[in-house]
This record gives sequence, structure tokens and C-alpha cells, in this order.
Amino acid sequence: YGSQNNSRIKMLHYESKDLSPREIQCLLRRPVQNTDKIMSIVKPIVDAVKSDGDAALVEFTAKFDKVHLKCPVLNAPFHENLMQLPKETSEAIDLAFNNVKKFHTAQLELKPMVVNILPGVTCSRFARPIDRVGLYVPGGTAVLPSTAIHLGVPAFVAGCETIIIASPPRQDGTVSPEIVYVAHKIGAKAILLAGGAQAIAALTYGTETVPKIDKIFGPGNQFVTAAKMLVQNDNSALVSIDMPAGPSEVLVIADSSAKPKFIASDLLSQAEHGPDSQVVLVAVGLSASQLEEIEIEIHKQANRLPRLDIVRKSIAHSFTYSVDTVEEAIDFSNSYAPEHLILQVDNAQNLVKKVKNAGSVFVGNWSPESCGDYASGTNHTLPTYGFARVYSGVNTASFMKHITSQQLTKNGLKEIGQAVMTSPDTPETSPDFAKKMSSSGSQRYAQELP
Ligand code: NAD
Repeated sequence: YGSQNNSRIKMLHYESKDLSPREIQCLLRRPVQNTDKIMSIVKPIVDAVKSDGDAALVEFTAKFDKVHLKCPVLNAPFHENLMQLPKETSEAIDLAFNNVKKFHTAQLELKPMVVNILPGVTCSRFARPIDRVGLYVPGGTAVLPSTAIHLGVPAFVAGCETIIIASPPRQDGTVSPEIVYVAHKIGAKAILLAGGAQAIAALTYGTETVPKIDKIFGPGNQFVTAAKMLVQNDNSALVSIDMPAGPSEVLVIADSSAKPKFIASDLLSQAEHGPDSQVVLVAVGLSASQLEEIEIEIHKQANRLPRLDIVRKSIAHSFTYSVDTVEEAIDFSNSYAPEHLILQVDNAQNLVKKVKNAGSVFVGNWSPESCGDYASGTNHTLPTYGFARVYSGVNTASFMKHITSQQLTKNGLKEIGQAVMTSPDTPETSPDFAKKMSSSGSQRYAQELP
């Protein structure tokens, strides 16, 4: 396992040829999380906010964040004094904002999809924004304005009417100016100064000062994730969530054309996220000395990071997996379904077509993971824990619903009416069924048909 204090930071190492299929299956599993214990902490918090509203919200903020607030909500318009930033910071935010906006605007479905199924039978599908959305921006161990951008911009582009940002308050009871600045840019209606399960509960059920929302987005620690799972299963809440989120992760596929410095940076970019994060290096045909060189780089760069303790913990359950061919590497990656997939191999672009499961792909040596985290334009809220097999990352459509419609002419109804009446779904398949039915729908078929 990874080392203690100032000892060498080391990842576990496996050779594919030494492992049985069962052992490889074990490697693909993420470190187990004790969700029962977390749920038992989170449920009373959610219940208390549901029943006592603001009073419970303020109490939990005092307990967990050590901040005593009179009012947990900052409503728009936000005062200019609350978003004062150094020029280079606002410029960096503006650049990321514009790039994310450009990519997410391109995803907007502006025109309805219309399909003529048969003469006189037309089906269509059109998109509408979700009215009220809540965006959780983590703030426990670090302020993450980039998450405000990556959730806020698609909500804004989709046209959501009410956008509420929730984030734990700073020690002085304020919100960081970066978050206020982004909230202002996306037209958020309010900022909820709360974190953890209490913030998720307030968004879900609403309180005296917090509007109830329809869908919750955003990453967060285990308390946030558990609360999202809990409220999603409460039918009375009528709230949905973006995706099940787990700790951040990255898988790097590297061959001898990759630069050890870049490999180390990409691995550390996620290792520093949280102690539960997992980072994986799939090494294609690398020699022992090449692997050693990468390990030295990881150690060197990690020691320059402010979150070294977190890195040590996450590296402790991370590993290197050596394979002989790129095909074997991509098969392993597809089975692992990483949140971030980095391709640092010769002709990386050619490998993209073989990617089946991943949240976001970073192609070639010059596409570092941190660009996707901040400013390239793609979204950084991505499926973790192997959910990339079935979920997409947050995108503009995540903030929209698709509504379908159908329109039939009299002739169109004649075309399909008989099939509708004799549908095997009906309890009786006799062609006379519709005529016997008393429901208005079936009567209508019967009246219209010859
Ligand atoms: P956070 O905002 O998620 O959580 C802080 C809140 O947790 C606090 O406000 C507090 O209310 C609550 N809390 C803390 N201790 C508690 C306790 N003992 N009992 C009940 N509630 C408690 O911030 P964080 O803790 O810094 O976590 C951020 C997480 O977000 C990390 O796990 C990181 O990996 C993840 N993240 C993921 C992505 C992604 O895209 N997947 C992006 C950014 C961050």
C-alpha cells in the first residue's frame, strides 16, 4: 500500500499475465463504501429539514460548518461588492464560461424532431427545460467555482427558469465571490448557504426561504451523495437527480510515447480530489525502469501539492496495471468504465473509436485532464464508480425533458386503428373489442373506423 508521511508514494502494481479472470474482475471493482452507516447519519438530517425547514437548516450549518447564519439564503440580484475578483480570476472564469457555453449551446435541440410514420400519422419530439433546478457546488475542503460553471452554464443554456446554487458558507458566513460571480452570470435566483445533506433536503422539500426545486445536480462528499439517493427515492418529494456520484477517478492508458511527467500530472489531478478517489495507470509494454520513472514523477509532483495527505490516501487504493497491447488496455478500460479516460498513446485519435464506456476522453499528450475540469468546454460532472457503462455526464439535455406528440388524420387513424384495437396488450383481442368497450378512447376508434 501507499506509504506514510514522507516515504515514497507508491501505487500497487499488477501484471495482466499474472492475474486470473477472477482477479481482474476484482481489480475492476471500486473501493467499497459503507453506505448503510452514511445513510443512518443522513436520514435524520433530511427528515429534520423536511419538517422544520430553515430552523433545522441553520442548526445543521452551525453544527457541521461552524457558521451561525441568520438567513441561509442570498437572493438575486447579488450586490457587486459580493463578487469583487482580481482581473485574472474573472478573466479565467469568463474564458471557461464561454467555452462551456459554446459546447453546451451546440447541444441544444432547437427544432422538434418530426417523423412521418405512415401517411396521416406524424410523430414528433420536442425539448423543454426543467423549470426549477438546484446546483450543488461542493465547498467543504475547497471552493469549486468550476462546478458552478459546469452545472450553471448548461442550466442557463437550456433555459431553466429557476436556478438555485447551494454551497457551504465560508467561515465568515459569506459565499466566495467566484461563486457569486458565476451565479450572477447564469442568472441564478438565489444562493443557498448550506452544504451536505441539509442543503439537499432544503432544495428537495423547500423551506420558508428556499424554493423547492425539481432536479438536483452536482457532486459532493458521501453525505451529499447519500442524501441525493435518499430524496430521489422519496415519492412525496418528486425530485430527480443527475446521476449517482462517487469519488472522482481517472484511468490513464500510456505507452512508451507518453511523457512520465504528463502521466503523473494526470493521475494526481484526480488523486488530489478526495481520499476516496482512485487513479489507474494502464501501462502498455512499459519496462520496469519506465514505470519507475513515472513513480518518481508522481512522488515529486505530489510533494509540491497542498493536498498531499489526500493524495497519499487515494494513492493507497490506486494501481498500475501492465498489459502487452493497446487492445488489451482498451478492453480493460471499457470494463472499468472510468469517469475520465486519458489516452497517452501513439495515434491516440485512432483509439477513440474503440472506447465503449467512459465519462470523458482526453486524447493525446497535449490534452491534460485539468483542461476538461476547467476550461476546454466539455462538462466535468461525470459518472463515476463504473456508472459510465450506462450514464452520460451532465449535458444540456440533462436540464431538459423530451416531450413526444402524435397527430393523426382521419386516414391515418384508419391506417393504424385496427391494429390499435387488436393490440395484444388489450385483455381481449377480438376486432370487435373497441366497439364493446365503454371507454371514450376506444369508442372514438370505433366511431372513426368504417
Ligand atoms: P461538500 O460540499 O461535498 O461537503 C461539505 C458538507 O458536508 C458540509 O457542509 C457538511 O454539512 C457536511 N458534513 C461534513 N461532515 C459531516 C458529518 N460528519 N456529518 C454530516 N454532514 C457532514 O465538500 P467536501 O467535503 O469538500 O467534498 C467534496 C467532494 O466532491 C469530494 O468527494 C470530491 O471528490 C467531490 N467532487 C467530485 C467532482 C466530480 O465531478 N465527480 C467534482 C468536484 C468535487
